[in-house]
Amino acid sequence: MTKLDLIIDLHRNSDRQGPGSEKATLKALSFMKFPSRKLQVADLGCGSGGQTITLAKNLNAEISALDLFSEFLEDLAEKLDREGLQHKVTTIAGSMDNLPFEKASFDLIWSEGAIYNMGFEKGIQAWKPYLKSGGYLAVSELTWITNSRPEAIERYWNSQYPEISVASKKIAQLEANGYVLVGYFYLNENSWMQHYYQPLQNRTADFLKRNQDSGLAMEVIQEYQDEIAMYHKYKAYFSYGFYIAQKNEH
Ligand code: SAH
Repeated sequence: MTKLDLIIDLHRNSDRQGPGSEKATLKALSFMKFPSRKLQVADLGCGSGGQTITLAKNLNAEISALDLFSEFLEDLAEKLDREGLQHKVTTIAGSMDNLPFEKASFDLIWSEGAIYNMGFEKGIQAWKPYLKSGGYLAVSELTWITNSRPEAIERYWNSQYPEISVASKKIAQLEANGYVLVGYFYLNENSWMQHYYQPLQNRTADFLKRNQDSGLAMEVIQEYQDEIAMYHKYKAYFSYGFYIAQKNEH
């Protein structure tokens, strides 16, 4: 198994693959006003679809849920079956940087904890043509929540994701790329701990057993433990910001 295989294995059979919650998804939705007709929605980097299920339950919509890894899409398909929501969601194996959709086809493009895979600015630029005029974009993205911070956490996140910045910079990027900001908030501790890190820690023992405590499996776990330790120590300085924006009509 490669390291990537192991990371996928660790994240299978879980509600979500990043920080977030049903409450946060609903909060982001609350900033939007939609016509009563059926909506076209894309959920990019959907993973096993924690947020896809919430969107399917709460919107009159056809949802295209796209992820690079079919393993997560299989998990999502099972959840959709269990919830009786298969008719509302189509799962698509594909890459967010080469979308297999028609231009101007979506009322809403959603992406929780995934746009970092192509980078925030590249993502908001590449996805905009796929929105209808006045369509919404909702993305969560690693964000500094204070203007200054200890060097240790600055160094850590800059090495993992150099595009991390304060919300004002991300918002300026949205505006510069033809979006109007309609809402912003950042994820609370519950979204990190209860909905992401704790379930991940609960899966660790089985994961190591399944992978015979291999060096690579231990390395994967150690990296997550380091990340969790950084969260505990420095959570006052960063979170995922949730950006809700509308494609400018003009
Ligand atoms: N939205 C989910 C998953 C977030 S984790 C949640 O919040 O729980 C990031 C997801 O992006 C993973 O499921 C990963 O498989 C997916 N991903 C990584 N690179 C991708 C790419 N190039 N295109 C589409 N999805 C990608």
